[in-house]
Amino acid sequence: MSPKVYIGGKLYEKSEAKVSVFDHGLLYGDGVFEGIRAYSGRVFRLKQHVDRLYDSAVAIHLQIPMTRDAMAAAITDTLAHNKLTNAYIRVVVTRGAGSLGLDPRKTTDPQVIIITDAISLYPEELYEHGLKIITAATIRSHPNTVNPRVKSLNYLNNILAKMEGANAGCLEALMLNHKGDVAECTGDNIFIVRKGEIHTPSIDSGILEGITRDAVIELACEAGYKVVERTMDRYDVYTADECFLTGTAAEVIPVVECDGRPLGTGSPGPITKELLKRFHELVHGERS
Ligand code: PMP
Repeated sequence: MSPKVYIGGKLYEKSEAKVSVFDHGLLYGDGVFEGIRAYSGRVFRLKQHVDRLYDSAVAIHLQIPMTRDAMAAAITDTLAHNKLTNAYIRVVVTRGAGSLGLDPRKTTDPQVIIITDAISLYPEELYEHGLKIITAATIRSHPNTVNPRVKSLNYLNNILAKMEGANAGCLEALMLNHKGDVAECTGDNIFIVRKGEIHTPSIDSGILEGITRDAVIELACEAGYKVVERTMDRYDVYTADECFLTGTAAEVIPVVECDGRPLGTGSPGPITKELLKRFHELVHGERS
């Protein structure tokens, strides 16, 4: 039996889980979302995900019609009802149904949707051999448009970049910001290793503040590595000793080639492998 979908306080069969075609989430990408993961029945960093969802909503001036605690409870209850232990959780809050015009004041009833499902992962061999990426011509959005820190339903930029990657035979693509600095990949944050230090673009590089990114920074610091958040350009990536991406679905995945250049030895590096191992211990352990 497929998992039921939560919409506005009720659970629906997948085939009955529907919102209006006049919903501005559909018409204009007007809404926010989260991608969350549960390991062995425990939701990883639920509070951080709920907080990021509400911050995104504040940024687009959208009032989520329930408290943060009620949202967290709805997520865990939906997961429990569907008897899922290892799962991917998608939370979506749309502006709600309105007129065909843009005006958000004409919408009513923001829709809170929680989908829980089996997780679909990158193929296992990519963790052993690493990903190849290209730099996309499509840039991450300017912070004065939809700020990349907002996890909005408007992912078209990232989708265009992902298509560029796919056309070049790559599963991920690197996106630069409006200044030409390295920002992040279409659905993952990027890190490099250089001379034993771990570097990643700072938040003001125009990135999503990834929750896996945060966890990996903590783990790297605990392991005694120096972590530097800074402005990075493609030279930094091309000349890195190691490179990896972080994200809820990807966890920690090595990158071994960028724009045709092998990175480091061209194989996943030791620090990347160590951080992946530590990340697995974290999510499967008691202190996540
Ligand atoms: N950047 C973008 C653009 C993303 O969509 C994601 C996935 N949510 C990430 C980074 C990684 O964030 P997280 O670790 O919170 O999944």
